[in-house]
Amino acid sequence: MAITYDLLIVFDMSEAQPSRKTGGHAYGRRHQTMSNTAEEGELCIYTGHSLGKFSSHSMRYDSHQACVRCVAAAREGRLSFDIDRLLKRERKRALKFWSQVAIGDPDECWDWKGTINNRTKQPQFSWRRHGISSSTQHHPQRVAMWFTWGDLGFTGVKTTCGNKYCCNPFHLIPQRVGVFVDQDSYLESFELACQLHTLKQQVTEYMIEEALKEQARMDESEEIDARAELMLDPTAGMPERFEAVMTDLLAGRHISQTEPQQPGLFRKPAEDEDPNAEF
Ligand SMILES: [Zn+2]
Ligand SMILES: [Zn+2]
Repeated sequence: MAITYDLLIVFDMSEAQPSRKTGGHAYGRRHQTMSNTAEEGELCIYTGHSLGKFSSHSMRYDSHQACVRCVAAAREGRLSFDIDRLLKRERKRALKFWSQVAIGDPDECWDWKGTINNRTKQPQFSWRRHGISSSTQHHPQRVAMWFTWGDLGFTGVKTTCGNKYCCNPFHLIPQRVGVFVDQDSYLESFELACQLHTLKQQVTEYMIEEALKEQARMDESEEIDARAELMLDPTAGMPERFEAVMTDLLAGRHISQTEPQQPGLFRKPAEDEDPNAEF
């Protein structure tokens, strides 16, 4: 079945008018809530979607703050797992996100393994998205949509499986954008299978990297704690303390020799100290 879209992308704001069309076929009406006018908005998370090479803005539909170029791709049914299509600064975030999703086969549900809000019991992922939403917490299904279907702003997303923890983009359909979904072609797509394979590898590498960093932090903390214990221990005699200070001085790690370049002594909170725990 051929699907046509009569939405016009109007960049000339002086002439732009939001769609006031009423009636028509039910299929057409479904799209009326997305405006046909775009404005300069926040930079899209995908490369090449800025207004110009040096611009830090992207065109976004004013109704949903959805990137015009991402909407065009989604309407053609294009989705991608390719991290390298994202802006450099968003790639780590994408890996962090996917590391919290139980990525399975394309036809399975991929459950969210990350934070669940204690109060609302809703799954959530922290991300401050200026110009898109004032909320710093987003439903992982929307985030999964952003990282695969495109930066569609606060476009709604529904699952075909009804699983509220499912983050499998093949089960997620952006709403009111007019996406063309062809499940069979996705499951048969060699390109998507390759992208998915690469993503899984990248996520594994990311998790190993993070685990090593965490281990290094813990090792350093243990050493610092052992020193502190000795210094504060009233039963530790002067010779022990003197020896400890001398050892530290010779090793260049005494507190008086601390440089800000040695972050080990300025211990940052660990990643798992969740700032959202109180939600
Ligand atoms: Zn975009
Ligand atoms: Zn599912």
